[in-house]
Parts: sequence; structure tokens; C-alpha cells
Amino acid sequence: MSHLIPRAPGAVRPMVDRGEGVYLIDQSGKRYLDASGGAAVSCLGHSDPAVIAAIKAQLDRVAFAHTGFFTSEPAERLADLLIAHAPAGIDRVCLVSGGSEAMEAALKLARQYMLESGQPGRHRVIARRQSYHGTTLGALATGGNAGRRAPFAPLLAETTHIAPCYAYRGRAEGESDEAYGLRVADELETEIERLGPETVMAFVAEPVVGATLGAVPAVSGYFRRIREICDRHGVLLILDEVMCGMGRTGTLFACEQDGIAPDIVTIAKGLGADYQPVGAMLCTGRIHDAIAAGSGAFQHGHTYMGHPTAAAAALAVLTRLTRDGLVARARRMGERLEASLRAAFAEHSHIGDIRGRGLFRGLELVEDRASRRPFAPDLRVHARLKAAAFEAGLICYPMGGTVDGRAGDHVLLAPPFILEDSHVSEITDKLKSALTAAL
Ligand code: PMP
Repeated sequence: MSHLIPRAPGAVRPMVDRGEGVYLIDQSGKRYLDASGGAAVSCLGHSDPAVIAAIKAQLDRVAFAHTGFFTSEPAERLADLLIAHAPAGIDRVCLVSGGSEAMEAALKLARQYMLESGQPGRHRVIARRQSYHGTTLGALATGGNAGRRAPFAPLLAETTHIAPCYAYRGRAEGESDEAYGLRVADELETEIERLGPETVMAFVAEPVVGATLGAVPAVSGYFRRIREICDRHGVLLILDEVMCGMGRTGTLFACEQDGIAPDIVTIAKGLGADYQPVGAMLCTGRIHDAIAAGSGAFQHGHTYMGHPTAAAAALAVLTRLTRDGLVARARRMGERLEASLRAAFAEHSHIGDIRGRGLFRGLELVEDRASRRPFAPDLRVHARLKAAAFEAGLICYPMGGTVDGRAGDHVLLAPPFILEDSHVSEITDKLKSALTAAL
């Protein structure tokens, strides 16, 4: 094995052999139900014939042609189809190779827009604590996970972080959801005013927080207030839908359910549905037009952007999602998954909260349900749960986050949209026995 140190030192990872629908199968023949779609990637399962055929057909024509010389039919058709389904006002697409790249493009586009619209003083980014936006330096600077940022702090651009909208831990005793949402949204206005609005470029947030909190949607009204604040101060709203987008929450873009449209939105993961590495940054015509009228071009590029084979895969994925009713299926099956999880765990002494939307669900693990006290970090409950579930043939995505400085453990479920009722039961049953084994 000549790989650089694996992400889980000491962990022995089996060699994957093949995929069949919602299952991955290792070389020993053991089957794993992929209940997290890797990390919310595999929205179509592991053997979708339409996507595989589209990739093969594109390879037979041409695998790649550099965007400095050519565009390609799949890239153009993908961009058109994305725009046809995008939130109001979004009408341009930049195709890249993943989520972090999409975030880098978003930050650079925002800065270029400010320069070319005569606002050179605007460069500051405000984001939220306990967020994840990727591992490259711009995306890492934006993310609010203190542990991930710490080793690289001297390399990170200045970003300030406000509270996430996390009702389970943030809402005060007796406070309504609505009052809580407005209270935390107003932290943005306070922060913009503290920094000076003429210096603030963008606010960045995940509509449904994925990896760091475990499928936490904002309460109703939060994002509408955020949108108003951004508009009032001329700050761009960048939504990171890398994990929660592409139908995962039951609408193609998660922000549809919050009743707002962003200025810039990023997607990846489900866009390639695991068949190809591909991501996208989408922006409004207003941003595009300012740059078109100014320097004329976005000062950004990667060798593999607009990759024709990746675009052909993504076009086939998006066609499956929109034409074959798979987004509606994610919504419907998400309700069944939620019902099954509630039936199994609503009274469980170590499950504090069950949350999420569509096929994007999270369970927060607590030592004590009444006080919501998290487990001690050194117990590494999330890692034990992951190992017990994997042993039982279930892939789920447990994480230890930070809750007010203390560790909080959660498990994220994001299964393929093609799952059946029998898979829902299998997920719940295996999770139940894994919890018993791990706690
Ligand atoms: N944003 C969010 C919300 C993510 O969940 C991730 C990946 N987990 C990223 C950005 C980065 O994407 P990638 O790993 O494809 O670079």
C-alpha cells in the first residue's frame, strides 16, 4: 500500500469489489447497505444503468477537451438543465470537479464581483460556527470547525463566524422557533455592522448543515431574515448545497424549502452521484453581467473544469432526478425513514434529537436525554458506532462535532433515493443493534 497515511489511522478498510443498487460489496462477498451514500454522494445507488451508459457513450466520442479551446455538448446541456431548475435569478453555471473547488470559485467570484461593481473595500466573509465548506484553503477558512482549522490557521484568510441555527442546542427555554430563528439571524446584522458593511463581501451558510451537525435545517423564517439582512447591506448570500443539494432534502435545491434564493450556490456530491467527480458554482445574472461589462471574464480556472465525461455523467444524473421523479421519491421515502427512526428511537435513552429533511436525516447521541448532556469526547462514541454499524453491514456517517466547546456525537443518514421500504427497516434494525453494541 503506497498511499499517504489513511484518514483513519490504524483502521483496516476492506477492499471494495462492486456495487449493486443501495449495497456495496467487498472482496470477501460481505454486503454493506450504504445508508449514508458514502458522504451523501450516492443518490442513485451504485449501479445506475443510465448514468453508466452515458459515461461509456461519452468516452467513445471524446473523454476530454480543454475549456480553453472547446466547450462540449454535455457541458452545455448540463448547464442549461441546471439553470432550468435553479432558484429564481440564478442563471449562470461554472462546472468544476468537487465541492471544495465549487466553494473556492464562489469566494473568488464574489470578490471579483465586488471589484468590478465598484466596491473594492468589500472582502470580508462571515460564516457560521460548526460548519464545513471543504478542505482547500479558501473553503477551510470559511468553515467553522475549530479543530479542522487550527493547524492551518496562519494560512487562512480572515473570516468571522456567527452562531449556526441549531434549535436543539441554541433555543432558549420557552423561546419559540420563530423568535429563536430571528434572534440568531440578527447576529449577522450585528456582525456586519461591527465589521463595517462597506468591508463585507459575503455571508456563507449550508441551508441544512451536514457533516458538522448532522442534518440540521434552520427553523422557519431564519433564512428569510438572513436574505433581508444581506440585501439591506449589499452583502452576497452564498449557499453551500454541496451536501444538501441535488434533491437530497426532497427539493432539488434545499433553499427552495426556506423560501429564498441565493446570489451564489454551490453543488457537488449528488451532482455526479459518485459516478464522476464533478461540482458546480451557480450565480445570478446580475453577478455575471457586472463581470461581463467589466473585465469580461471570471479570473479562475482548473484544467478539468467542464470535463465532458464528468458533465455527461452529471447530465444523466440530473435527467434521472428530474425526469424520473426521484426528487419526489427522496421526499416520500424520507418521510418513511423519519417515521421508522422515530418509532425505533424517539424514546431511546441516548438519542436526544431526530432531525432533517427528505433523505437527509440526523440523530444526535447524548449521554443524558433530559439534560441533553453529550458524551465525553474521549469515549469517541461516534467512532464506536461507525465501527459497530460497519461490522453489521451498515454504512452510516457518525461524527463528533463540538457543542459549545464540548464534544457532541451524531449520526448522519443519507441513503440513495432508490431505497425501498425493506431497506428502511434494515437501516433502522441495524442501527439499533449497532447502538446497543457501541454504547
Ligand atoms: N461543502 C459541504 C457542505 C460539504 O459537505 C463538503 C464535503 N463534505 C464540501 C463542501 C467539500 O466538498 P469536497 O469534499 O467534494 O471537496
